Amino acid sequence: MRVLGIETSCDETGIALYDTDKGLLADALYSQIDLHSEYGGVVPELASRDHVQKTLPLIQQVLDEAGLDKQDLDAVAYTAGPGLIGALMVGAGIGRSLAYALNIPAVGVHHMEGHLLAPMLEDNPPAFPFIALLVSGGHTQLVRVDGIGRYKLLGESLDDAAGEAFDKAAKMMDLDYPGGPHIARLAEKGTPGRFTFPRPMTDRPGLDFSFSGLKTFTLNTVTEHAQANGLPDDQTCADIAFAFQEAVVGTLVIKCRRALKQEGLKRLIIAGGVSANKALREKLEAELAKMGAGVFYARPRFCTDNGAMIAYAGAQRLLAGQTEPLPIAVTPRWPMESLPPLDNAHD
Ligand code: AMP
Ligand code: ZN
Repeated sequence: MRVLGIETSCDETGIALYDTDKGLLADALYSQIDLHSEYGGVVPELASRDHVQKTLPLIQQVLDEAGLDKQDLDAVAYTAGPGLIGALMVGAGIGRSLAYALNIPAVGVHHMEGHLLAPMLEDNPPAFPFIALLVSGGHTQLVRVDGIGRYKLLGESLDDAAGEAFDKAAKMMDLDYPGGPHIARLAEKGTPGRFTFPRPMTDRPGLDFSFSGLKTFTLNTVTEHAQANGLPDDQTCADIAFAFQEAVVGTLVIKCRRALKQEGLKRLIIAGGVSANKALREKLEAELAKMGAGVFYARPRFCTDNGAMIAYAGAQRLLAGQTEPLPIAVTPRWPMESLPPLDNAHD
């Protein structure tokens, strides 16, 4: 089955073609980062308008890349939530209409299920059950995954998401949006041990997270070392970035180990934009190896928003017979636990 995947939930237009026999055939991504950078965050109406302009040309691009025509498609999968309502409506409207015109099924995909299943696009994907750490710009969650649609939320952030914390810390040091990759790059030049930032909520039991205290601590440190231009010197910024990243990574690692122990599992997948973070991957690999557990993640391109994860997740649901009725519906706020489980999820 050849599935066209369409992702437009936020500020990336991601389009991909996934073949359930041959794997990924083509994928294309257009990032709106430059469009939003001068505002320091995503402007919803600008995002919707840009998706309108980019979605159809990118669909044509992936079809050309795969040497296929629209008529060769067997189904369409589009992100139906959670996300920005206007942005979601663009992908859903185009995806559902295309499926109607071609007389093929369409399925609305949960964006976070897409992220969660992205590591399945790699060689040697993990078998169920496993723990998933979902760390993106909008979510920080630990989920027990017993199959596709069999999700048990074990813990989540009570305030900012990990990616959001990276973005806000970056803004404090006048780094561009999205700040995660900039903090990560700056941290490489940081001096270990110059600053020690708190690891919130690690000293009490449970699997929830909180990053707002760390954000305040970062702001206080930046302010304390600010020079006449309002910013600390370059080396101090690098040292702050290092301490900030170390604290976020340290916190995530402690909670992942705790979740694996609690559930008696040995496999962890990390997904979402922050899972591209090299320090997080390295620390998790080292710490989990000590308990005989393994870490799985997607290639960096498929950690942030992309069409491939939507095509893949949609294909699994389509194979199980799930399709969308004709009315176009999106769900800007959508708990992943409410998704229907797939009986025949492979394991
Ligand atoms: P998503 O919401 O899954 O599209 O991911 C976007 C979020 O991931 C943003 O908050 C980024 O700052 C963050 N992010 C992307 N790459 C990295 C990285 N290398 N380190 C830390 N955060 C990152
Ligand atoms: Zn995302």
